[in-house]
Amino acid sequence: MPPFKQEIENIKTYEAGKPFELIARDYGVAEDEIVKLASNENPFGTSPKVKAKVAELASKMHRYPDDSYFALKLALAKKFDVKSENIIIGAGSDQIFEFISRALIERGDVILQNKIAFAMYAIYAAQVGGRIIRTDTLRHDLKAFEKLLANNPKVIYICTPSNPYGDALDRDETFEFLGKTDKRTLVVIDAAYMEYAAFKDERKLIEPKELIERFPNAIYAGTFSKAYGLGGMRVGYGIARGDIIEALHKLRPPFNITTLSLAAAIEALGDSAFVQRTIEHNFKEMTRYESFAREIGLTYEPSYANFIAFTFPKGKNASDTANALLKRGMIVRDLKSYDLNALRVTIGLSAENDRFFELFRERWR
Ligand SMILES: *Cc1c(COP(=O)(O)O)cnc(C)c1O
Repeated sequence: MPPFKQEIENIKTYEAGKPFELIARDYGVAEDEIVKLASNENPFGTSPKVKAKVAELASKMHRYPDDSYFALKLALAKKFDVKSENIIIGAGSDQIFEFISRALIERGDVILQNKIAFAMYAIYAAQVGGRIIRTDTLRHDLKAFEKLLANNPKVIYICTPSNPYGDALDRDETFEFLGKTDKRTLVVIDAAYMEYAAFKDERKLIEPKELIERFPNAIYAGTFSKAYGLGGMRVGYGIARGDIIEALHKLRPPFNITTLSLAAAIEALGDSAFVQRTIEHNFKEMTRYESFAREIGLTYEPSYANFIAFTFPKGKNASDTANALLKRGMIVRDLKSYDLNALRVTIGLSAENDRFFELFRERWR
């Protein structure tokens, strides 16, 4: 075997969820009976307008997309009241994090993040030899971040609402924190679930325009994978001052999203009613999960996103429950990899949520 770099040797491969086909085969559940509440996808799927557009454009898939992503950037610029020069498009916001790592982090540089956070921040950082420092708090606590600023982080990841816990920061406290950061530190606001938080409590809303006008060292990362229902299309974006965007663009491979993804994202931005319905449904169903948790004796963190994390009492094992549910065709996210005795459940359609309550109750007795 050729000698792979030490950085690569040290990385644990990201484990995505099991595919439906495998679960069906391994547990003898019919594929169409499987309920997946594990990846924070939109339970309504994708806007019908987007599906129609993609079908219409299927005959164009031999064409490369417009690599400048002109129309998508224009639509995003209009939505957020920023300029196209302030936007970079990624294959999911994941790819924006990858550009950030490769552009900024050298071996030994510090990346600061919450104790529990989206696993990819640390994986991209580790690929380039970064040193990850975590707070010791489960929820995002900016005082805990502040205490660690003395380590001179190159990059700080703030996820609000946060995954997998669902807590969200107030805009004002976030801006106050940003004011204390060094201008040489890039602060990433991972806003994958911002649409949900903004609906639940407007004090949580961080708008990219205000963020980048006030802070030259901040970048806002958004995605079409969650509220917009386009996880499988892989479209995300970064919004920052022009000089940051220009630097990140040097790392972007040409045609990093596809002809169909590009069209889907543009169309999705035009159907805000679909997103609105998605979010209203989400919080209506969320209250059912909260009542359920109280009834059964699980603790949960009030969530500003499209999922809810349940912490199990001592003596009850969340992984065992996740496995038992899996055997019945119900896929939820076990948070064992975060050292938590907890599960994260994506809010699904009403009937899917009913099924979750039913299977969970059976198991709990
Ligand atoms: C889903 C998610 C993203 C975005 O994922 P992409 O599909 O790559 O856009 C980013 N951050 C968090 C915390 C997420 O949960």
